[in-house]
Amino acid sequence: MTTQIIEISYLLAAISFILGLKYLSSPETASRGMLLSQLGMFIAVIATLLNHSVVSYGMILVGIVIGSLIGSLLATKIQMTAMPQMVALLNGFGGLSSALVGGGEFLRSQAHLTPYPMTTIGLTVLIGMVTFTGSLIAFAKLQELMRGTPIVFPGQNALNLVFFFVALGLFGYLAFVPTMTPAFWALIVLSGILGVMVVIPIGGGDMPVVISLLNSYSGLAAAASGFILNNNVLIISGSLVGSAGIILSQLMCKAMNRSLGNVLFGAFGQIAAPKAQVAASPDKQATPAAAPEVRSGSPEEAAEIFKKAKKVIIVPGYGMAVAQAQHAVRELAELLQNQGTEVSYAIHPVAGRMPGHMNVLLAEANVPYDQLIDMDDINDEFPETDVSLVIGANDVVNPAADTDPNSPIYGMPILHVDQSKLVMVLKRSMKPGFAGIDNELFLRPNTMMVFGDAKSTIVKMAEALK
Ligand code: NDP
Repeated sequence: MTTQIIEISYLLAAISFILGLKYLSSPETASRGMLLSQLGMFIAVIATLLNHSVVSYGMILVGIVIGSLIGSLLATKIQMTAMPQMVALLNGFGGLSSALVGGGEFLRSQAHLTPYPMTTIGLTVLIGMVTFTGSLIAFAKLQELMRGTPIVFPGQNALNLVFFFVALGLFGYLAFVPTMTPAFWALIVLSGILGVMVVIPIGGGDMPVVISLLNSYSGLAAAASGFILNNNVLIISGSLVGSAGIILSQLMCKAMNRSLGNVLFGAFGQIAAPKAQVAASPDKQATPAAAPEVRSGSPEEAAEIFKKAKKVIIVPGYGMAVAQAQHAVRELAELLQNQGTEVSYAIHPVAGRMPGHMNVLLAEANVPYDQLIDMDDINDEFPETDVSLVIGANDVVNPAADTDPNSPIYGMPILHVDQSKLVMVLKRSMKPGFAGIDNELFLRPNTMMVFGDAKSTIVKMAEALK
C-alpha cells in the first residue's frame, strides 16, 4: 500500500514538474510554474520519506535544517547580478550529492555488484564529479576568485583527451571488476580533475552558457543516481533538468550566434578577453571628453525630447541590472504613458547576464507583461519609433553584429535601435560591454548619449518630465 502511495505521489510530482516547466516558458505564467514545481518537489520529498528503507529520520532532519538555513541565507543575501554564480554553486552541490550517492552505494554493496548497477554507479560518479569541480571553477571565475580569462597551455586538448579516456577505461574496468577499490577512487579523482580541465579554458564571460550546460550534467547525474536507488521521480526529474539545461544552452548559443563547441573550446573567450582587458585598463578608458564626436545631453534635455515623443521603445540591458534601475524605469514609462506616449520594452534573449534576466527584473518592478516584446516581434517597429531609450545595453544593440565580419559578435541577432528617429543611450562612459568591443552606434548622428548611472539618470529624467 505504501509503495503504491509513493509511486502515485511520484507521478503527481512528475506531472507538476512538467507543467511547471511549461509555465516557466512565459513571463506571465512563470510564477505559477515556480509554485507548481515547488509543490511537485515537496510531494516528492514527503513521498520519499515514507519509504521503508529510510535508515534515520534524525539524520535527515539535521540535513534539512542545515541545508534550509544555508539555502535561505544564500537566496536572501545574493545580489541579482550574482545569480549565475549562485546557480553554479547549486549545480555543483547537485553533482556532488549524486556522486556521494554513487560512492555510498559502491561501498555498501561492492561485494555483490554486477555490471549493470556498477555501470550506473560509475556514470553517477563520473558525471557528478565533473559537474561538481567544473561548477566550482565556474563559480570562482564569476566571483572573481580566479582569473576570468581562459587558462590555456600547449597540449591542453590532448591532455584532456588522455584524462577522458583513462576515466572511461577505469569506468569500463570497474563494471566487470567492481572489487577493485583503488580503481574506484582513481575514477573519482580523475573525474574531478576532468571537470576542472574542461572549464578552465573557457572565458569568464561564457560561464553562463557553461553553467547551463553543467546544470544539464547535474540533472543527468541525478537521473543516473535514480537508477542506483531505483527511484522513479529522481530519474524523471533528473532527465527533465538534463534536457532543459541542454535546450537552454542551445538557445543561449543561438541568441549569441555561436555554436556550443565554439563556447566550450574557448574560441570566443580568447578573442574577446584581451580586448576587454584593454578596455578595462585605466589609461584606455575613454571618457566623454576623449571622444569629442559623441553627442551627449543631460537628463533634462532628454526629458524635453520625451515630451514630444509619440512612440518610445525602452531597451534594457545589463547596466539596468547593475544600477537596479527597473523600478525607476517603470515610473518613467508610466509618466510617458500618462502624457499619451506609446511605450513598450524590447527584450533581447541574451540581454543581461542570464537567460530571462530582463524579464525577471521588469516583472519584479511590476511592468505589465504585455509591454515586454521579444526581439523578433519588435524589430520591425524601430523605424516608426521616435525614441529608443537604451538603458545599460551595449552588445545587444551594436550594429557591428550586422556590418563587421571581423567582429566577435558578427552574426549575433541585435535590436535595430539604430533605425529609430533618435537613440538615447544611458551609460556611464564609452566603455564596452561584455564582448569588449566598441559600439559605433554611440557615434551615429541620431544617437544622444546621456552619461551617468542609469538609475539616477532615469530619476532625473522623470523629475524633469513631471
Ligand atoms: P553589455 O554587457 O553589452 O553592456 C552593458 C553596459 O551597461 C556596459 O557597456 C556598461 O557601460 C553599462 N553599465 C554598467 N553599469 C551601469 C550603470 N550603473 N548605469 C548605466 N550603465 C551601466 O550588456 P547587454 O545587456 O547589451 O549584452 C549582454 C551581453 O552579455 C551580450 O554580449 C551577451 O552575449 C552576453 N551574455 C549574456 C548572457 C545571458 O544569458 N543573458 C549569458 C552570457 C553572455 P558603462 O560601463 O559605460 O556604464
